[in-house]
Amino acid sequence: MTRSSAGAVALRIACAMALFTGVPAATASAAFAAPGPDTGSPTAGGAGSGDPYFPLAGNQGYDVAHYDLDLDFTPATHHLTAEATIRATAQRYLRSFDLDYSGPEITGVEVDGRPARFRREGQELVVEPVRPPHPGEGFTVKVAYQGVPQRISDPVLGDYGWLNTDDGAVALNEPDGARTWYPVNDDLNDKATYTFRITTPSGVKALANGEQHGEAQVHGGRSTVTWEMRRPMASYLSMVAIGDFRVTRGEAGGIPSVTAYDPAAGGDDTFLRATTERAVVEQARRFGRYPFDSVGGIIDRIGVGYELETQSRPVYDGEPDELAVVHEIAHQWFGDSVTPRTWRDIWLNEGFATFAEWRWQEDHGGPTARETFDGYYATPAADPFWQLKTGDPGHDNIFDQDAVYTRGAMTLQALRELIGERDFATLLAEWPTRYRYGNADSCDLRALAEQISHRDLGAFFDAWLYTAAKPAPPA
Ligand SMILES: [Zn+2]
Repeated sequence: MTRSSAGAVALRIACAMALFTGVPAATASAAFAAPGPDTGSPTAGGAGSGDPYFPLAGNQGYDVAHYDLDLDFTPATHHLTAEATIRATAQRYLRSFDLDYSGPEITGVEVDGRPARFRREGQELVVEPVRPPHPGEGFTVKVAYQGVPQRISDPVLGDYGWLNTDDGAVALNEPDGARTWYPVNDDLNDKATYTFRITTPSGVKALANGEQHGEAQVHGGRSTVTWEMRRPMASYLSMVAIGDFRVTRGEAGGIPSVTAYDPAAGGDDTFLRATTERAVVEQARRFGRYPFDSVGGIIDRIGVGYELETQSRPVYDGEPDELAVVHEIAHQWFGDSVTPRTWRDIWLNEGFATFAEWRWQEDHGGPTARETFDGYYATPAADPFWQLKTGDPGHDNIFDQDAVYTRGAMTLQALRELIGERDFATLLAEWPTRYRYGNADSCDLRALAEQISHRDLGAFFDAWLYTAAKPAPPA
């Protein structure tokens, strides 16, 4: 994304144990992911997957493989009639399980083709299958629902989730807004593939992540289009965009590129298309192979005031500038393909994407990343700029420009100075390769940087990530 406290000690201990030995660190979510006993009576799956900042997001007891979302939407009324089909595997003997859901009225729930009892408790949908699935057994949940989905308007995190617009809707979920439009295991660590089947009045355009499958099917004045995301995707990166778009299909660096713009947003997508292609090609040289099967971007008039790195196809609220595109495309490697294990490590998304902007400027006749770093480093030690911990900013500050974005990028530039150009270049390419389509945390980054540089970087990461104070100048 771009936008105009406890726990650090435990994390330090977890890192300290892992470091310099190459042994992966234990993670907060590991305890929650462990399967339960596979004998005895069935148990409830349970709400929440252990995220320190979003304790109710995600659930326990199962693992989702695929979401099939059938969405029938009418822009004039913003009415959605939907059916979500979720293929999952039980991790324990499940008497009941939770999905995250705060969308419109549910009209029916089935598990493996049989009606299931369900109840809604706050943002949880609790499902009781007639026949509880055993550990390791696959099961399919179908949830039918209809009504007008509503956005989340959070006083600190802003507006997100299902966002109805003048001519349609856009879904932008970061951090926990997917539940506003489909039932979901909203856990960063439970990535899945997706099919989006979107029906609208003919003439209205509908886009989503990934690639369009076949041609639009027109029947009785309505049109259905199918999009597939075949690579693992965290739910906060799933997206649909419905409206009066002009759509352009082309190519960027050898893969399909689909861009779209709402003419009412002003301008067009000429600049977006060209900049997206440059960003994909140039960043692939530095970060390794682009991780998805298509790319692009969508310009709409949404009014939320941010851009979001929705997987394979970012969404821009109005026409973006060059660095905004560079930032969102860099996220395809950092955030989308390699996703943090918990929201505490969001600096791994925003620090890398911001550093990618600095590096882009350095490569294209602008200030060097060192010069950009120096400008920020001149901030006096007493300034609030240094008051949060970059590696543990707190729930309310996950999008903090200073602590997460700027100081995240500064951490990487300081690391570059410390371990040297060659090792840093190796790190930038190896990180998205080693953890491609998976999850990783700050301990993993430290372990990789130590492995590459043959240095103990404990004091460095402690100062830059887990100290609410201005670190000593880089070497
Ligand atoms: Zn970002």
